[in-house]
Amino acid sequence: MDKFLLGLLGFNLLNNCINKLMGHYVTIYMIHRPIPIDGLYQGLAPDLLEQCLIYAKNKNYHFASLDELVSDAINGIVPKKPTLCFTIDDGFNDQVEALVPILLKYDAKPTIFVLTNFVDGKDWPWDFKLAYMINTTSCKSDSMSYKGTQFQLNLTSMQNRTITRRALVKYAKYLPSEVLDDFMVAVANELMVVPPLAAPEGYTPTSWERLRHYESRGLKIGSHACTHRVFSSLALTTVKEELIHAKNRLAVELSAPSKTFCYPSGTTKDFSSAHVDLVRELGYVAAVSASPGNNTLTSIKQNLYAITRHTFPNTLAQFARYSSWIEVLRSKL
Ligand SMILES: [Zn+2]
Repeated sequence: MDKFLLGLLGFNLLNNCINKLMGHYVTIYMIHRPIPIDGLYQGLAPDLLEQCLIYAKNKNYHFASLDELVSDAINGIVPKKPTLCFTIDDGFNDQVEALVPILLKYDAKPTIFVLTNFVDGKDWPWDFKLAYMINTTSCKSDSMSYKGTQFQLNLTSMQNRTITRRALVKYAKYLPSEVLDDFMVAVANELMVVPPLAAPEGYTPTSWERLRHYESRGLKIGSHACTHRVFSSLALTTVKEELIHAKNRLAVELSAPSKTFCYPSGTTKDFSSAHVDLVRELGYVAAVSASPGNNTLTSIKQNLYAITRHTFPNTLAQFARYSSWIEVLRSKL
């Protein structure tokens, strides 16, 4: 079925007609890390990103920045064509140096949401410390126990390490800060890897200087808070402090930070209506989640503080599908 539908995307006249019938939909992509040199985890290959952008240009998609989409949604401006939007989360050096130049080359108007403590060099995110320990350990344990919870430690391949990392992150992300610290020590002891104080090679942040360099070339930069701690695990006062501090750091370092916020982790369990209120009170006009879903400008306006995004896919065929009316149709079925 997929092959048949994807084949239909080759017929431009047919697509133009279907696009008119479907209305003008929007696909917002969420990009994480580029493929690493050491192959320790799966990432987005810059070549694939470029192929996808060339495909989108040839198919006459419109590219809009997230702030443009939000502004159009609020003001009821309907896009003339199906629209694509590209966002990157976290603020790693390799994201900025390997992916941003490609997005700018095709005038794709990307937005990167950065963790301000990370860019400030104060700390590196707890979940990437877990990834570092799991990716670099040579320990042979196949399980660990923490406060009565048993975890499988399958470290036999890149895929299995990814599954192990996801399980540990899923457990750890809702722990209170002091318990999370204790859990991290327990994992370090079990895996016999202590994450260095400063982010090691492969996990280094970008800098404000590099962000300013790309800001002047069209990159939008927004807040992803300070620490990557999930809001649901923090006291409301701590969340407020993170939001204010991150907003101030962006305002000091950059010319025109994004007016849209990006929740750390960002699944529906990771933030609440109280966090939405804080984000709104601070003057953000919208916020993006990590929940998947297609959009129209109407759906963005109805869901301004929890806008859905698709994880950037692993193949050109998937990109073609996610960007097209096929995904809109599937989401309605
Ligand atoms: Zn993130």
